[in-house]
Amino acid sequence: MNKIIEFRKDLVSGDWVLISAQKSKKPMFFTREPTKALPKSKCPFENIVQSEQGKNLLWLPKKGKADAKDWLVRVYENKYPVVITNKTCVPVIKRGLYESTPGNGFQELVIMRDHMKPFGLMDKDEIEIILESYILRYQALRAAPCMEFILILHNSGPRAGASVPHPHSQIFALPIIPPDVANSLEGSRRYFANTKRCVHCDMLKSEMKEKIRIIYQNKSFAVIAPYASKVSYEIRIFPKNHESRFEIIDESRKKDLADAMHVVFRRIYKNLKNPDYNFFIHTAPPKKENEKHYHWHMEILPRLAIWGGLELGAGIDIVKVSPEEAAKILRK
Ligand SMILES: [Zn+2]
Ligand SMILES: [Zn+2]
Repeated sequence: MNKIIEFRKDLVSGDWVLISAQKSKKPMFFTREPTKALPKSKCPFENIVQSEQGKNLLWLPKKGKADAKDWLVRVYENKYPVVITNKTCVPVIKRGLYESTPGNGFQELVIMRDHMKPFGLMDKDEIEIILESYILRYQALRAAPCMEFILILHNSGPRAGASVPHPHSQIFALPIIPPDVANSLEGSRRYFANTKRCVHCDMLKSEMKEKIRIIYQNKSFAVIAPYASKVSYEIRIFPKNHESRFEIIDESRKKDLADAMHVVFRRIYKNLKNPDYNFFIHTAPPKKENEKHYHWHMEILPRLAIWGGLELGAGIDIVKVSPEEAAKILRK
């Protein structure tokens, strides 16, 4: 098999895909039997930390501690990246009908201290420190040349695409704007062009009035089950005031975001019985200054169903639990 790592543009939809075909040495660490947890002695992340292999890009201690032995979160370069770490800028190449660009980028691993402690069992302070690590690495990657988008994401469980059960997030810097983000930006831009208002601010206003899809709120954040959810129990966390960039939230809003995540992940863990899930942050692209109409947010997608033909063939998602019912279940 030839090694190909490049972004390719779909000629019809204009969407970018990443072809990352490499002889994969990446092992899977989930055992088939759900009851048989991966022992700590076999966990590759315990290994990374102990052997100090891989470049440690950042570490943050537990609250009230300062010593490296009291670390809570560490960030490393990913040992098995799907992109090529390369700081040179390469333009989009046209070959006949098609466009591509080398799969350059950055892929970092955010490793949490506890081998078996998902977000649903963390306390507020721990979540706040993890958020701080996201912000610091986002700001560092922002400075890299030619990176058009930085995606912070978290996969929990094999159904969500995680290969290691030990809690970890990932941060990608990419030379293209991913399709879901491009669509979200374009939709917001279109709404703004027509109304001179932010689509998410309007939506939040209406949701706060109706109250049926609100799951939780505090001073600065609202948590809702979106009206047109893509999966059962989809959850979005929005800053209540309009802001386009996640990476510039101040201390008090960071605390409020940690509070909202703490409440919501605890309820997912308890009320939905600890399902696999993905979450990610959609924020304005780092290099674009004219995306002020964009309203950043966090999306949480529990992975309870497996996609079939209608989803893949028509792009129509079948959601078996209504967002109104989901909000009711997650409000408790
Ligand atoms: Zn571990
Ligand atoms: Zn807004």
